[in-house]
Amino acid sequence: MPPRAKLFPVKHVIALDVGGTGMKAALVGADGALLYEARRATGRERGAEAVVESILDFAADLRAYGEEHLGESAVAAGVAVPGIVDAENGIAVYASNLGWRDVPMRQLLGERLGGVPVALGHDVRTGGLAEGRIGAGKGADRFLFVPLGTGIAGAIGIAGTIEAGAHGYAGEIGHIVVRPDGPDCSCGQRGCLETLASASAVSRAWAAASGDPEADAADCAKAVESGDPAAVEVWRNAVDALAAGLVTALTLLDPRTLIIGGGLAEAGETLFTPLRAAVEERVTFQKLPHIAPAALGDTAGCLGAGLLAWDLLSTEVSA
Ligand SMILES: [Zn+2]
Repeated sequence: MPPRAKLFPVKHVIALDVGGTGMKAALVGADGALLYEARRATGRERGAEAVVESILDFAADLRAYGEEHLGESAVAAGVAVPGIVDAENGIAVYASNLGWRDVPMRQLLGERLGGVPVALGHDVRTGGLAEGRIGAGKGADRFLFVPLGTGIAGAIGIAGTIEAGAHGYAGEIGHIVVRPDGPDCSCGQRGCLETLASASAVSRAWAAASGDPEADAADCAKAVESGDPAAVEVWRNAVDALAAGLVTALTLLDPRTLIIGGGLAEAGETLFTPLRAAVEERVTFQKLPHIAPAALGDTAGCLGAGLLAWDLLSTEVSA
């Protein structure tokens, strides 16, 4: 075997994806290689300040790991956080599940990481960036990423970047009203897509229909596959609502690829076959996008955070 070329030191960035209960992190090389991966709890039961402290500690430990094992410390960091994010100013504005308000995350992280550049991103938009560039949308110039989880969100991909909107609210497809007389939504409207077609909505509907309070969306998908008529009905309602919301989105955005992720997408063709048919049935003049399952799973946010960090460096060089 030929001796391995000595690659040290290895230039890398810190990528950190902060979720409600857990954080995923990686050290990412210039070629996108994951050089080190780690997970840690947010500690949200101890309050918002403790969460911010655990993010900063995690980042500092990742920096130290790079120094020790990769021969140098990270040259930049990218961090994805939930809720409302002011990416331009690096501020984590609000997250209902973590309880913080107006945390100057970029500044705090920069101070803990020896002054390296830090990018802050919204979790779904950051995950969408990764799906669009290196995941299911690879090569698509226009895409829409829609994860169907506890709620429904969206990331609008345009020419390699994600459109955040003028106020950071672009892509909130979960709050498109598809049934004006539908269930109340936490946002204050009624019949939002998220109340009808999120994994949580399907879980609720199937728990009620099956009489088993523990039954969830994955159980519903299994029951659909075995031909249970009650499950088929619950599933059809969700798919119809989802198709209605997606057709509104594609009428507005004309994406080339529509990437569907989150817990509900794990049902595979049980979801995708009827969904493609329902979308096709609804469109008239609109062009049908390629409808594809997300490819990166729950690593999308972390991989996207790494892309944000590397983007920051290439922007700095060219600026
Ligand atoms: Zn809503």
